[in-house]
Parts: sequence; structure tokens; C-alpha cells
Amino acid sequence: SSRPTDMDSATWEKVKDHPCFSEEAHHYFARMHVAVAPACNIQCNYCNRKYDCANESRPGVVSEKLTPDQALRKVIAVANEVPQLSVLGIAGPGDACYDWNKTRATFERVAREIPDIKLCISTNGLALPEHVDELVEMNISHVTITINMVDPEVGEQIYPWIFYGHRRYTGTDAAKILHERQMLGLEMLSERGILTKINSVMIPGVNDEHLIEVNKWVRERGAFLHNVMPLISDPAHGTSFGLTGQRGPNALELKALQDSLEGGARLMRHCRQCRADAVGLLGTDRGQEFTLDQIPLEPHY
Ligand code: SF4
Ligand code: SF4
Repeated sequence: SSRPTDMDSATWEKVKDHPCFSEEAHHYFARMHVAVAPACNIQCNYCNRKYDCANESRPGVVSEKLTPDQALRKVIAVANEVPQLSVLGIAGPGDACYDWNKTRATFERVAREIPDIKLCISTNGLALPEHVDELVEMNISHVTITINMVDPEVGEQIYPWIFYGHRRYTGTDAAKILHERQMLGLEMLSERGILTKINSVMIPGVNDEHLIEVNKWVRERGAFLHNVMPLISDPAHGTSFGLTGQRGPNALELKALQDSLEGGARLMRHCRQCRADAVGLLGTDRGQEFTLDQIPLEPHY
């Protein structure tokens, strides 16, 4: 694969074998997620806590939650079977930064056994700033932050509450704190050369127009990619946007918004909204071949 003409070579080195950060790479390199981080510190109106974090994933099926030791066994089993494996991500099913001890323990174990695997996390950003230095120490090279608003008035329609500094906040107070922590976390990552992808969930009538503003803010703060994802609201399958049940956008609405963002932060258009325990090339999910009952008790190499 070859470097896009508008990308410098240092950046290309970081993205060329990450299937989510490079559209090219997604044909050749595989990722896997391990669902080790169930706790979350905010409530999103589009989240159904029974399922994976909608930061990244399509709700509908519960992921198998793993301990860090179980996750290590699984990563080794997958590495033995899937030669294209290049990236290990932790995308919940809650928040990887808030459930930090499990995230860290998992990455430490895996990095010891498979030193060349790339590590990435997804987070809502609230607990991100206090972990940035550890992310650098642990060589976590890619971070995804879900940012749905830069205006607390919009935010209060998306987030009923957050839990921060030992207390719960609601309304615009909650959204303002979340916004400030997200921007600070993004700036800190950019300063340290960690590649960032911003996920935004497009919620018609709530933040669809506003995502143009979000795109500007994140571009100014060094975001590498902006990934606008459709809200998946499907009451028939137990997923609904809060009490209002706001519908998701259709494909044309999503594309129109993405088109209006061209020229801003680089857009990701190949995201598959993978599950928190997805395995394989993007667009395939071999996760069901690697459930705990199918992998060896003792890792073997
Ligand atoms: Fe759910 Fe993820 Fe939002 Fe937490 S950050 S409430 S797990 S969608
Ligand atoms: Fe990549 Fe999107 Fe899947 Fe995350 S959800 S692993 S960004 S394709």
C-alpha cells in the first residue's frame, strides 16, 4: 500500500498497518477488541448498558466480559490463527479510561508476550486527561474519543448525567465538564504525538447540524480522523435514544453530513461499528470462533 499524497511520512508510519486509521490498511490488517472494561462514568442517551459501549459498537449482542488473564489467552489464541492481526483495542463495553486498572493490566500482559502488537483504546474522554502520561509510557499509539458536542446545551440532550470527582452532575453542568475534559484530553494527546480518531454519533434533530462545529473544534486541536457514525435506534431490539426514541439517520442524511465536512478534519468512511469483542479484518467478525470455551486454558505459542 502507498502513502496518500497529503500525509507526511512520520504519520504514515503510525497509520499504515492500523485498519481503522488507514482505509488502505483495512484490507490487509486485522484488529481485535477484548471486552475487559465494563464500568462507565457517564450515561449516554443512546446507550443500552446491557450491550457494548455505543462509542464504537453496534448494540444488540452482549460481549463476553473477560478478565485481563482471560484476555491475554484470547489474544494469543487469535494471534496464532489470524496472521494479519496488527492491533489490539479496548473499547469497553464501558469506558477503557474509567475502568483503567483492567485496561492497564490487560495491555501490560499482552505487551510482555506480543511486543509488536499495536495498542489502542476508545473512551468518552471524561477520565482521559489523568491517564495520558501512562498511555504514552505504555506505548498506546492510537486513541479514539467519542465527542458528540462542543456546546453544553446540545450536550444535555445527549448525556443525562456524568460521574466525576466522586459526585454526579446533570444538565448543562455535566455536559460542560465532559466537554472540557474531552478537549483537554485531545490537546494532550496531540502534543504527545498520539494519533486520535474522533467518533461522533449523528443524532438527527439533536446534534446533526452541530457536528460541523464539532469537526472544526477537533481539527483545531489536532485530531487525525473524524468518524461520523449513525445513531442506531431500534426499539424492536431494545435500543432507543433515551425516552424520546429519536430515530437514526438514513444513509443519505449521513452521507450529506459527511460531504459537508469534507475539507475539515480527515474523515473516516469505512468504520463498521464493530462489537467490543470483534476479531479479524474489518467487515468480518470471527469473534464467535474465539469465545472462552474454545481457547486453550494455558497460552501456547
Ligand atoms: Fe454507554 Fe459508552 Fe456512553 Fe458509557 S460511554 S454510557 S458505555 S455508550
Ligand atoms: Fe475500527 Fe470502527 Fe471497528 Fe472501531 S468500530 S475497530 S474504529 S471499524
